[in-house]
Amino acid sequence: MARYGAVEAGGTKFVCAVGLGPEQIEEQVRIPTTTPTETIALVLDFFQQQIKSSGPLEAIGVGSFGPVGVHADAPQFGYFLETPKPGWQHIEFATVLSRALSAPVGFNTDVNAAALGEGRWGNGQGLDTFIYLTVGTGIGGGAVVNGKLLHGLLHPEMGHILIPHDRSADPFPGSCPFHQDCLEGLASGFAIEQRWQQKAADLPADHPAWALEANYLAAGMVNFILTLSPQRIIVGGGVMGQPQLLPLVRTQVVQKLSGYLKVPQITNNIDTYIVPPKLDNQAGIAGAFVLAQQAAEQR
Ligand code: ADP
Ligand code: ZN
Repeated sequence: MARYGAVEAGGTKFVCAVGLGPEQIEEQVRIPTTTPTETIALVLDFFQQQIKSSGPLEAIGVGSFGPVGVHADAPQFGYFLETPKPGWQHIEFATVLSRALSAPVGFNTDVNAAALGEGRWGNGQGLDTFIYLTVGTGIGGGAVVNGKLLHGLLHPEMGHILIPHDRSADPFPGSCPFHQDCLEGLASGFAIEQRWQQKAADLPADHPAWALEANYLAAGMVNFILTLSPQRIIVGGGVMGQPQLLPLVRTQVVQKLSGYLKVPQITNNIDTYIVPPKLDNQAGIAGAFVLAQQAAEQR
């Protein structure tokens, strides 16, 4: 059986794993995200050690914070692009791994990878069109459409859609450096903490922050439902750690759709339509294994 390398490249850490798949991981490390030179060198060290001790890798899969160059035939394939992360703009990554480790690489966003992972082993199983959202420090979304990851011009940037913002109810201007009050600017963990001047995890369950949060997340989801027609929405990330939030979001999604979509998934089964990830925080690394497998098949 083929051995793969998998990387989940995040803003605070890079998780690197080697194994046959997410259920058969031989070795895994967490490398802090510091400077590109330092972090990428440590990632390479890990895989080179693994190859030395246990043999070559069939392929490597990488799910990364974005934006990133995901088109295999474009000159920017394998690069971090205009990322807000200081020092990481226009840094070559996935293709560096591919050359140094003599293996093909599959490269995509962290949320697209997580969608793939949930599709294979989690709550996207058996569906051909669904989305995966994360509501953490930022907000991101990945989509599987007709069985394939969605990337066209670049890749979806679902966190940055523009949604209604009633400034009399919520005077907070928004925290996104590009758009201020886009979805991420209004509803990310970072935005919640800026608006209320305390940690999101410390806001009590009955704090008005959560009804407002549900309103924004539901507005975003309604737009995704109407544009992509997903068969399910999987939503994870640290902010969803508030158990009262998901039920509020489901109620608001139904309200905002106002009976327009008469499908049983929404009218009768909203609790199984908008769901948490089954793989919890392993969806990203699991998806990186799928990316690796796909890269090996395309070789
Ligand atoms: P990241 O997005 O940085 O990869 P997470 O998905 O863990 O990581 O999200 C971190 C964000 O989630 C932070 O803004 C944090 O304040 C928030 N968060 C973590 N736990 C909770 C919680 N129990 N309730 C609400 N917000 C939380
Ligand atoms: Zn934005």
